Amino acid sequence: MDNCLFCKIVEGSIPSNKVFEDDSFLVFHDIEPAAPTHVLIIPKKHIASMNDVQSEDFAMIGELHRVAQDVAIKLGVASTGYRLINNCGPDSGQAVAHIHYHLLGGTKLGALVQ
Ligand code: 5GP
Ligand code: ZN
Repeated sequence: MDNCLFCKIVEGSIPSNKVFEDDSFLVFHDIEPAAPTHVLIIPKKHIASMNDVQSEDFAMIGELHRVAQDVAIKLGVASTGYRLINNCGPDSGQAVAHIHYHLLGGTKLGALVQ
């Protein structure tokens, strides 16, 4: 997708600090970490937000949870705990219109809604 920041990260025209990559997903460190562990898990397919996930995408979005499990183990937070967050739309503060899941951990996380 033209002019999508995360598509550019997928293409490699904008650099990222990658944690994991396969044919369908990319995981990279958030540029402004909100916790000691803060990575973004994205499908390589451009989907603007949770609202735009189509029927044919749900199996892939399910697979994303397997990626989250593997990354949590790799980053050492599987046993201590972590949070997986998807922001969708203005009230959530979604800033990048390419669906992504924040995986946060490495500390006791605060209240979910602030
Ligand atoms: P949102 O608010 O849309 O759920 O989260 C977007 C996230 O993308 C933010 O946590 C922000 O720090 C991160 N981010 C924005 N631009 C970049 C970038 O160029 N590189 C990386 N690695 N993360 C970014
Ligand atoms: Zn995109």
